[in-house]
Amino acid sequence: MEKSEESSLVMPGESLCVIEEFEPGPGAYEGSDGKVYSQVVGVPVYDLDERIVKVEKLSKKLSIPEIGDVVLARVIDVKSIYAAVKIFEVEGKPPLTGLFSGILHISQVSTSFVRTLYDVVRIGDIIRAQVLNRAPLYQISIRGREFGVVYALCSECLTPLVLRSLQLFCPKCRRVEKRKVAFSYYMVRRSSA
Ligand SMILES: [Zn+2]
Repeated sequence: MEKSEESSLVMPGESLCVIEEFEPGPGAYEGSDGKVYSQVVGVPVYDLDERIVKVEKLSKKLSIPEIGDVVLARVIDVKSIYAAVKIFEVEGKPPLTGLFSGILHISQVSTSFVRTLYDVVRIGDIIRAQVLNRAPLYQISIRGREFGVVYALCSECLTPLVLRSLQLFCPKCRRVEKRKVAFSYYMVRRSSA
């Protein structure tokens, strides 16, 4: 596969065109809304003569997150009851086809009561989580000691926080920050995301 094709990768369920433009060929299907969607992970090929779009499956081995997978994700937004993340890696699997959007709900943080997600994760953190399901977005859980934040930056000065007596501490401005820290904190370096 050429590097240039990588940007045109499509996911299952991704819309390719409307039915008036191209009929679905192998690897594609027509939705009830009159749009044509991809059935597979692959590269769409539009045949202008036949007016058919097909999706050629990737020959290169890439993966997508599946239920039960342990994933690494970057936190991109935090509200009090949920956080939005981008999954960028699945442990023990080939590289992902791209970034996958996921949601961490406050009920999936701990078996005990959690008041607000602001005490759990912050924007820019990297978390280790488990995939619960994948519709419509990936729902992830960080319940359990092995899950939670594995890498975090100081909210004030962006220095990587270090774990000190079960608290995250900024060595530069000496702040202590609250997170739900995973057992494997600092397993991931910023460069890997
Ligand atoms: Zn700091």
